[in-house]
Amino acid sequence: MITLSQTEKKILQNSIRDIEDFPKHGIVFKDITTLLNNKEAFSVLMNHLYQRYKEYNLEYIAGIDARGFIFGAALAQMLKIGFVPIRKKGKLPCTTISEKYSLEYGFDEIEVHLDAFGKERDAKVLLIDDLIATGGTANAAATLINQTGAQCVEACFIMGLTFLEGIQKLSDITDVYCVLEVD
Ligand code: AMP
Repeated sequence: MITLSQTEKKILQNSIRDIEDFPKHGIVFKDITTLLNNKEAFSVLMNHLYQRYKEYNLEYIAGIDARGFIFGAALAQMLKIGFVPIRKKGKLPCTTISEKYSLEYGFDEIEVHLDAFGKERDAKVLLIDDLIATGGTANAAATLINQTGAQCVEACFIMGLTFLEGIQKLSDITDVYCVLEVD
């Protein structure tokens, strides 16, 4: 199993900033834009994800709108596999399936193209997003992947909020990996 060294973990932790009361009072927003514009941290993260997932024989990476697109597309290119966007409702132009979910701060709905994972059944898909909180978004995304006939083999997050029950709930439908755990 590929693990981060303590030094690498510190580099990542120090590159993410907390913004209090965004987007509303009481939420501590984990801002990953300061990881993305830090070339050392972004490279540590992407190399770690590449080393972890290169032996998984994945066929696609599915990224959640919008920050999951950044990490997901970069990793898909490194692994030389396809990338599939799971988008907020109303953004995808072809035939979609959709799923409603509740957020740490509100409600939303996501969708995916029905044919996004090809014609073969059981294509191996890694789901990726920046953060798991209540798990509502990721549960809906993993459910959508499985409903298309593909198989969500793991869900990966840069951060997991372990004081909420999202990781535990999502573990009922897929394996879960969090690069950093926030408690
Ligand atoms: P949840 O469905 O509650 O697990 O929320 C996960 C989604 O909301 C992810 O797409 C995150 O980007 C976003 N999100 C939720 N809480 C936070 C937070 N505290 N900081 C940054 N993003 C968050």
